[in-house]
Amino acid sequence: MLKPLMLVPVMFLSSCTANKWWAQSTQDNSRQVASMSVQQLVMEKKNNFNEEIDEKLHSLHSYYVIGQKNLVDFDSQISESDVTSLYESPAYLNLLAVRTQTEEIEHELVELWDTLSNDKDKSDLKLAMQIKIAAFAKKSPIASLSMENLASDIGMKVPSQTNSQKSKLVPLDIQKEYKAMEALREFVVYEKNIEHLSHMLDTKSTGSGKKFYPSPSRPGSITGNEFPEKVWSLTYDDGPGKLTSPKIIQSLKERKLKATFFQLTKQVKALPSTAKEIRDAGMEIASHSYTHLQLTKVGGATLDKEITQATQELEKLNNFDIKFFRLPYGAGVGASHIREKIAENGLIHVFWNIDTLDWMAQEPQKIVERTISLMKKTPRDAGVILFHDIHQRTAEASPKVMDYLMKDNRRVCTLDEIVTQMNEGVEKVCP
Ligand SMILES: [Zn+2]
Repeated sequence: MLKPLMLVPVMFLSSCTANKWWAQSTQDNSRQVASMSVQQLVMEKKNNFNEEIDEKLHSLHSYYVIGQKNLVDFDSQISESDVTSLYESPAYLNLLAVRTQTEEIEHELVELWDTLSNDKDKSDLKLAMQIKIAAFAKKSPIASLSMENLASDIGMKVPSQTNSQKSKLVPLDIQKEYKAMEALREFVVYEKNIEHLSHMLDTKSTGSGKKFYPSPSRPGSITGNEFPEKVWSLTYDDGPGKLTSPKIIQSLKERKLKATFFQLTKQVKALPSTAKEIRDAGMEIASHSYTHLQLTKVGGATLDKEITQATQELEKLNNFDIKFFRLPYGAGVGASHIREKIAENGLIHVFWNIDTLDWMAQEPQKIVERTISLMKKTPRDAGVILFHDIHQRTAEASPKVMDYLMKDNRRVCTLDEIVTQMNEGVEKVCP
């Protein structure tokens, strides 16, 4: 999926140290390798390593610049658009596409980090990687933001100086960085890539009924727009998160609220005690696939693993039936073979009508403001709110959204409670 990136000219990787091995022809290369000393080989490996990291950090930054620009566009459209057209707008689809890209790069870097961590001879490379990330974060306000998720994934603190930059990020900063990037030839490649990917994301979700059951058609899909007046469901995806989920659970407990956690089976297996803590707090558990792939791009066997196996294993780990599934990035909600697979497993698909866009690095207060503005746009002051319990900023923004939810007679229930009561025709759902 990232392949177009590889075309990005290497010339941009100016922070790369040492010799230009990439400038040599392949023929030259093979002759040279034969006569290379071990020391030279080690050097070359290091150069490759440096270059790979530099290229990935640069890509990450470029996508974050595009992302931040689209985030400003999205936020500015909230007041004048209705919810449905907001989620069909180019700004929103571009944001989803940016997320698929940044997440893939972050994932590759975390994998590299894990590989290095498993080899004690590689601690110098780990240190080199940390230094690179810290140095990159100091380049500009968005460069700093673009390192935030990655740094947190590898348990590293982005230098505090960048934290103060972060809180000062204003549209003008974004415009400036965007303009500077636009001047670079390869930036067009990144933009085209996002545009292309956003066209391929199939996220059109229809749901307007009052009854729900596993089905590849309308009754098997929830957006939250169907919910009765003032009825809300809080949902958290991609977890468990080691440090962040417990904080969110604490905020929920303090307010006697229950939320639904759409979990990745791989993540539950990696963090069994955090998963247990969520379960023991009486939260609802739902499935969000095995590893968070974009399922519109995978074949039958992978689809089976990501939906069937993911849910079955999650049921075993929890010892109860899973009823709801959410597609990673919401991608594939209109694809019949994917919807059939979800229904076959006895699951109802859950989309959202409030996307907090909390995966993007930003001030927590921005997330709160966006969420409340979007909630006000819903016709019945009701729906499904999408958060991710793997980010510190989400743990900070969540309590404020919870407090808003508890005002003006709004009611918060788990998806199962709402769906069961709606199916039974209960007069006051989620009392
Ligand atoms: Zn997700």
